[in-house]
Amino acid sequence: MEKGKSKEIFAQAQSSIPGGVNSPVRAFKAVGGDPIFMESAAGAYMKDIDGNQYIDLINSWGPMILGHGNELIAEAVKQAVSRSLSFGTPTSAEVEMAELICKMVPSIEQVRMVNSGTEATMSAIRVARGYTKRDKIIKFEGCYHGHGDSFLIAAGSGAATMGEPNSPGVTKGTAQDTLTAPYNDLDKLKEIVAANKDQVAAIILEPVAGNMGCVTPVEGYLEGMRQLCDQEGIVLIFDEVMTGFRLAPGGAQELYGVMPDMTTLGKIIGGGMPVGAYGGKKEIMQMVSPSGPVYQAGTLSGNPVAMAAGLEMLKYLDSHRELYASLESTQQQIVKGMQETLDELGLNYTMNAVGSMYSMFFTDQKVVDFETAKSSDLDKFGAYFNEMLNNGVYLAPSQFETLFLSTAIGQKEVEQILSAHKKALQTINS
Ligand code: PMP
Repeated sequence: MEKGKSKEIFAQAQSSIPGGVNSPVRAFKAVGGDPIFMESAAGAYMKDIDGNQYIDLINSWGPMILGHGNELIAEAVKQAVSRSLSFGTPTSAEVEMAELICKMVPSIEQVRMVNSGTEATMSAIRVARGYTKRDKIIKFEGCYHGHGDSFLIAAGSGAATMGEPNSPGVTKGTAQDTLTAPYNDLDKLKEIVAANKDQVAAIILEPVAGNMGCVTPVEGYLEGMRQLCDQEGIVLIFDEVMTGFRLAPGGAQELYGVMPDMTTLGKIIGGGMPVGAYGGKKEIMQMVSPSGPVYQAGTLSGNPVAMAAGLEMLKYLDSHRELYASLESTQQQIVKGMQETLDELGLNYTMNAVGSMYSMFFTDQKVVDFETAKSSDLDKFGAYFNEMLNNGVYLAPSQFETLFLSTAIGQKEVEQILSAHKKALQTINS
């Protein structure tokens, strides 16, 4: 596989961009080798600047649930561009967007648009703190909520991949207001809450974690957390930046039937454009300026081009609800096929999956939290990743990321993925 142009431009990028990339995991540091620079994409495939083609199993880290180049979204964007790239005034598209989000996401009564998942989570905890008049938050080891200072404590995703769970630059003062708990351990969470009685403003979690690889909540975990928050007056925030509009039209909260007080959204909500949102109970969201005293603003928030893309995406998902079952069945077919190969080769690796998200961990332990996720053999992961790439399948370049399917992945792609999987495992274990 020719990768000369990607190699060359990555070397060039080092002088003008830190590490040559605009987001750390893209640098392929965890898997060795140089990153691939993309040129175009259509449906299930991405094409790089050397002319190689890959089946895309990241889908821009989640947003491209309909695959690349959806014509409805592209057309909506073109029309919006013809009206103006930005007004900095309210537009009716924002109202339509807010109404659709409130309709689709069961617990959201009011919503504010921002430009990324990071902004959504930063804003949500500020509101939760303003509402409860408390300072501390609890997050879970291995969960990632963007790069806001309060969240760069025991963080997953790139922070875990780069071995920087506690980033320099986060002050002690900020760090001491963030308490961390192991994922999927309700007893431990209760202990931490008890030790910080009446001081915890919010508990924030990925209701299905994607940033330590895919890790699902154990039975009763979300329900138990809901009950605990009710008893203690704590705002429960589901960070559905990954799971929102992906696991169901209404996200993980719809799938598991547990309602948070606040929800943060990103990725799919922008249809590929930079969009995030946070919302929740009206009583809480009324704290946000100019309704209330908690300040949060944005020059490009609710940008008309971004709203056009996101609105078209959400309308499509809302009116094609059958696609969720179909995505899940593609996942089940892939995971079953992968498992069969593991059995055939006598390999005991762990597969986690829900809806259109899945991960394979190179460990025989059950993966339920960050500790067990870290038991994966990362060298094996790197070797597997590179073999998959050589066989035309683009995975997330880190063990601590989930994979995302799109509706563009059909039978032909499933077969190619499974055949690449078998070849890769045979090569790395030979
Ligand atoms: N929350 C979660 C659960 C995420 O997965 C991410 C990004 N992967 C974020 C927040 C941050 O979103 P963004 O990268 O858009 O700032």
